[in-house]
Amino acid sequence: MRLLTSIVISGAILLGTPNNLAASDCPNNSEASSRSRTIAVKPSKFPLVGKQKYLETLRLNEGEVVLTFDDGPVAPHTPEILKALAAECVKATFFMMGLNVAEAPHLARQVFDAGHSVGFHSFSHADLSKLPFDKAKKDIELGIEAVTEALGPTRRPAPFFRAPYLHITKEIERFLLSRNIIIWDIDADSSDWTFANPEHVVKNSMAELGKAGKGILLLHDIKAATARALPFLLWEMKRRGFRTVHVVPELSSASGGLAP
Ligand SMILES: [Zn+2]
Repeated sequence: MRLLTSIVISGAILLGTPNNLAASDCPNNSEASSRSRTIAVKPSKFPLVGKQKYLETLRLNEGEVVLTFDDGPVAPHTPEILKALAAECVKATFFMMGLNVAEAPHLARQVFDAGHSVGFHSFSHADLSKLPFDKAKKDIELGIEAVTEALGPTRRPAPFFRAPYLHITKEIERFLLSRNIIIWDIDADSSDWTFANPEHVVKNSMAELGKAGKGILLLHDIKAATARALPFLLWEMKRRGFRTVHVVPELSSASGGLAP
């Protein structure tokens, strides 16, 4: 309890001065790089990741966190989040919703060009587990198409998929795995969707990371509270000794994992 209280208090103080942190331009790169690393994964080794649903997750050391953002891209929050990540030289994975990508393809490119991994989150954000398989498959394919088209021929999306609401069926899993796409669940939930107050996003994320010890953290880049919270969440993670891991696809095959 005392720990949580200190987070809330520090968050309350910090939330008054967000620009100081967000405007920083990684003045100490060596320190930043010592707090993060990149791992390359392929579906044959890591087909299903995230211990809330699956037995396996990414091979992370204690205290290592993979930041993931679902549902975007949208302005102004996705660019705000990019700014906060850049200020700390942190790379993340964005699971993009096709409909939002179709409306703002330049934001998808902006995320990619900032060095982050760009994966898929369906087209319409329907609950795929409640759709007939053919419709679910179509929605996933449209989502992949929207992201791929937005990125254009020179940028390759990561073969990573996370289901809306984390709801998926065995049939959908088989379909995605047949396309060499890694299916992501989560290890820790910020529950940012439920919070309007950025302090609550920081507090809950840290509590969940504290419980999990390491792993994939779920956030949403369409949320104003998340965008405001992120500089402080990164600061709090640093203060508590957490390090970030950027997950990229291991591109050994010519298709990069997106076989038809
Ligand atoms: Zn979602």
